[in-house]
Amino acid sequence: MQADHSSLITVAPTSVHTGHANAELLKQFKSAGRGYWHNVSEADWNDWRWQLKNRITTVGQLEKFLPTLTPEELAGAKLANHKLALGITPYFFNLIDPADENCPVRRQVIPRIEETHTATWELSDPCGEDSHSPVPGLVHRYPDRVLFLVTDRCASYCRYCTRSRLVSNASGYDFHPDYDKQIAYIAEHPEIRDVLLSGGDPLLLSDDKLENLLSRLRAIPHVEFLRIGTRIPIFLPQRITPELCAMLKRFHPLFISVHTNHPRELTVEVREALGRLADAGVPLGNQSVLLKHVNDSPEVMKALVQKLLMCRVRPYYIYQCDLISGSAHLRSSVAKGLEIMENLRGHTTGYAVPTYVIDAPGGGGKVPVNPEYVLCRNAGRVLIRNFEGKVFEYPETADGKPCRQPARKKIEESEFV
Ligand code: SF4
Repeated sequence: MQADHSSLITVAPTSVHTGHANAELLKQFKSAGRGYWHNVSEADWNDWRWQLKNRITTVGQLEKFLPTLTPEELAGAKLANHKLALGITPYFFNLIDPADENCPVRRQVIPRIEETHTATWELSDPCGEDSHSPVPGLVHRYPDRVLFLVTDRCASYCRYCTRSRLVSNASGYDFHPDYDKQIAYIAEHPEIRDVLLSGGDPLLLSDDKLENLLSRLRAIPHVEFLRIGTRIPIFLPQRITPELCAMLKRFHPLFISVHTNHPRELTVEVREALGRLADAGVPLGNQSVLLKHVNDSPEVMKALVQKLLMCRVRPYYIYQCDLISGSAHLRSSVAKGLEIMENLRGHTTGYAVPTYVIDAPGGGGKVPVNPEYVLCRNAGRVLIRNFEGKVFEYPETADGKPCRQPARKKIEESEFV
């Protein structure tokens, strides 16, 4: 049974992002170009070690390469190396629009003075990882899987990083993973069937070191599944070399989760790098963080998830930004996240619709958050509504058994509450 009750259902309208972004423009693949580095040789530019060596890490470099630096950014950059280091690869830096103070790429990697403003509810370890760490560098939060922190370094540093207490080693955390102890713990716990390598960024390790680590983990009989969480294909696509892909291929089943927040990050170079991983048989997923004036708009997020599919990447999660200290200026609201989900589900390919989650503050784990599609469950029926706001009845008895007869009762608005 179907009734058109669309006027009764509150479906948030699609909002237009402040930048009046045009969906088709957002979905175009462009090259990052060479920008200030036009005189650098092709070989150097495409060498990931050159990119790392030439990262923007100082206030002086930032002032030189981004003359439109605002007072808030300059003040933030001066303090950055006491909290979370400043670091941006030349490749990724070229994606910043110097003419736009609110450029969505700029907001993610250029420090701001607001990072020093901390609310009482903000935390340095918002997901409670340290309290679930049996040995240094290993987080055992869920029953059958562990997070294996490999390094505290990244190719570029995201200003909202949930692990900013340890990544870049600017806050004095003194992170020292002990691979022997981490691997021994996994070997001693047969319930661990899934190991997620993260950090910092595991793909910053040399091929040899990474191969050694993956081989040792693969040698543990109960480890069924390996995953790598990385932002390298986005910050440093040059790192995804044919040699790296050939090595990774030997450790299947191996999944990779990348991290992209805005469609502009998906360049020609990134699409090719992701293609190399996909060709090596690596299933790819994407994790986004919902960020204010970066991607907190249905239009931008829809372009992102559709563009990810074109890069052979399945959108996996949208995270509500964790309550990390000094991130209020980048946090969007849960209402905005729900509005985005409302505008994705049913409005685009199911494969493009990620799960929106809040990592419960203090270590409760990921909790999925969804617009309400089940309007009520009462004697004889479940009332559901679809993406168009139309209401449907699914006949079911109160104890969950199939009905002999549909309720055939008029759907009343009062039932929805
Ligand atoms: S790449 Fe990941 S770990 Fe590194 S700074 Fe960004 S969010 Fe943090």
